[in-house]
Amino acid sequence: VRKKARAWSGKAEPVRRSAVLGAGIMGGGVAFQSASSGVPIVMKDIRGEALELGLKTAGQLLDRQIDKGRLDAAGKQRVLDNIRPALDYAGFGEVDLVVEAVVENPRVKAAVLAEVEDQVAANAVLTSNTSTISIDLLARGLKRPEAFCGMHFFNPVQLMQLVEVIRGSRSSEATIARTVAYASAMGKTPIVVGDCPGFLVNRVLFPYFNGFNRLLRDGVDFERIDRVMEAFGWPMGPAYLADVVGIDTMVHADHVLQEGFPERMGHDGEPIMDALLASGALGQKNGRGFYEYT
Ligand code: NAD
Repeated sequence: VRKKARAWSGKAEPVRRSAVLGAGIMGGGVAFQSASSGVPIVMKDIRGEALELGLKTAGQLLDRQIDKGRLDAAGKQRVLDNIRPALDYAGFGEVDLVVEAVVENPRVKAAVLAEVEDQVAANAVLTSNTSTISIDLLARGLKRPEAFCGMHFFNPVQLMQLVEVIRGSRSSEATIARTVAYASAMGKTPIVVGDCPGFLVNRVLFPYFNGFNRLLRDGVDFERIDRVMEAFGWPMGPAYLADVVGIDTMVHADHVLQEGFPERMGHDGEPIMDALLASGALGQKNGRGFYEYT
């Protein structure tokens, strides 16, 4: 019998209200998930159109639940009422936890985190949804690095069960416990991992992609590899997964891992995805990756 992973035993203050910075693919997903789980959330962006798109996407996800008979119109409205779109920091003084989900750029993230730190209460927790940037690096500019950790959701947030909670060297136990509690309240499965390139999931996933790359260089067709992995039981093969994630995101994460663990993650020969990216293919987001999308 496979035992369930041990639950977090620390005592945590619940998150009663939260905020997310960035209303993009991930920020919009976090807002939807929090609101659906009954935790009201402020969703802040610097662009009004991003807020509109985030709300529209949430509405569409809720409509799908209505179509399946799992929700009624009043339920949909209750969830939407739990998301407050914002272009400024009004209301941030009342939130218990903030998820930063702006662009994957260390300078932008550091500036945004330092800014929001001055807007929240002294006991609020700050987290970052970064996929590749060191939590210790982002903590450097903060006045309360003990109240900061990583909270790494996967795309699409509403479907992906796992959340990596990343413990920086200065993150306090209370910070980790509260972030774990928030992920659990959102119906997710949190795991606490250390701060290192790729955290945990990408350190497991990228050696698989390196194996995929070797097969491609040996002349095996990518569609065949996808079909084989699907028949093996994975929900999708590596080529389709790379297109879903985005070829640019894949290449960026691969470089971070190669720099972090050169002797373990190095490639023999040029990775095919670097060449794809150089040709302008970004995956599903621009209709061209390993496959073509219309
Ligand atoms: P995105 O480009 O879809 O959204 C980013 C949003 O941040 C945009 O709407 C932008 O207007 C907004 N923004 C920029 N500066 C801001 C600021 N100062 N304040 C508030 N909002 C600001 O990006 P995304 O794909 O949602 O990624 C966000 C983060 O999540 C990145 O760190 C990324 O690495 C991480 N992540 C992405 C995925 C994924 O598959 N997309 C998965 C896991 C983690």
